[in-house]
Amino acid sequence: MNRVHNFSAGPAILPLEVLQQAQADLVDYQGTGASIMEKSHRGADYTQVHEEATALLTTVLDLGDDFEVLFLQGGASTQFLMAPMNLLSKGQTADYINTGAWSTKAIKEAKAFGEVHEVYSGKEGNFTHIPTQEELALSEHARYVHFTSNNTIFGTQFATEPETYGIPLVCDASSDFLSKPIDITRYGIIYAGAQKNLGPAGVTIVIARKDVLEGISKTDIPTIMDYRTHVQNLFNTPPVFPVYMVKLVLEWIQSKGGISYFERFNLEKANLLYSAIDEDDFYSGTADLASRSLMNVTFRLPSEELEKKFIQEATAAHLDALKGHRSVGGVRASIYNACPMESVQALVAFMANFKAKHG
Ligand SMILES: *Cc1c(COP(=O)(O)O)cnc(C)c1O
Repeated sequence: MNRVHNFSAGPAILPLEVLQQAQADLVDYQGTGASIMEKSHRGADYTQVHEEATALLTTVLDLGDDFEVLFLQGGASTQFLMAPMNLLSKGQTADYINTGAWSTKAIKEAKAFGEVHEVYSGKEGNFTHIPTQEELALSEHARYVHFTSNNTIFGTQFATEPETYGIPLVCDASSDFLSKPIDITRYGIIYAGAQKNLGPAGVTIVIARKDVLEGISKTDIPTIMDYRTHVQNLFNTPPVFPVYMVKLVLEWIQSKGGISYFERFNLEKANLLYSAIDEDDFYSGTADLASRSLMNVTFRLPSEELEKKFIQEATAAHLDALKGHRSVGGVRASIYNACPMESVQALVAFMANFKAKHG
C-alpha cells in the first residue's frame, strides 16, 4: 500500500475502509452477480442503498420528520441557481452573506430571480474574515438568508450559524458538511457537493425543510429544477455509484460515533496544525484568528520562493496537494473528516524540519 498523506481540497481523501469495501463490492455487489453501477436505479438493490443513505443521513444529523433528503446532480454550483429558482420571485428579497469566491458565485446566480441584498461583503479585506452578528445588515422581510458555512479557498468558517430571527437559512455546506453539529432548526435548505467531506464527485446532497418546500408558490420552475419533483420518487436516474459511496461514508461516520466524534477529532487536528503555524513568524495563517477554518488551513511562508520549495519538498515526502488555491497562493492543508491524525502529525513534523533548514 502506497497511499500519500492527502491534503486535497476536493475531490478529497476518502476513508480507506470505505474504499476497500467499495473494492470488495465493485465487480459483484453482495453476490448478485453485477456491480451496483450495472443495475436498475428502480430495482431492489439500488432502492435499498438509496433508502439506507437517506435514513443514515437523517439519523446522523438528527433531522426528524421535518426534512427531505435529496441526492441530486450538478454540484453545489447548480444549487447556486436552483435554490433561488425555487424560493425567490421578482419583487422579493434574499439576503446573501458574501464571504468568498463561492458566495460570490451564488450571489451572481440569485440575481436572475429576484432582489439580492448583500448583507455583508468580505471582499475589501480579501475574505479573511467571517462577520460577527453586528456586522450583518439583515433585511426585514428576506425570503431567506444564504451563507457559505466554510470557505474552502480562503480558509475561513462560521463557528456558529448567523442569527436570522426565524428567517430560514440557505447554506452552502460543501466543505464542512457533517464535520460538526449544526442547529438544524435554523435551516431551510442545506446543500453540499459530496466530494469534499462526504464521498466522490457526482452527487449533491440537498436537505430541505418540508414547510419551506410547501411554501414554494412558483409554477414556472422547469421540472428537473423544481425541488418538489425530487421529493416523492426518483424523477431521473440518480448517480448510483456516488450515492452508494456516500452510504458507506455515512456508515463509517456512524461507526466512529457520529458528528460529535468528528467535532472533537477535527478540532484536535486543526489545533495541532494552527499551533505549528503560530509558533513564531516563519509561518503565518491567512485568516483572522476568530474566523479560522477547521477544514481548510491556509498559511503563508516568508516568500513565494520558499512556498514553492515547501510544496515541492512536501510532495516529495508524500505530503500531497498542499498548494493553495490559484487565486490566493500560499499553502492550504485540507483536513476533512477522513484525514487521519497521522497525516497532520506528519505535516507538522515536516513543517518543523523545513523551518529548521530555511528559517
Ligand atoms: C467545491 C465547492 C463548491 C463547488 O462545488 P461543485 O461541486 O464543483 O459545483 C461550492 N461551494 C463550496 C463551499 C465548495 O467548497
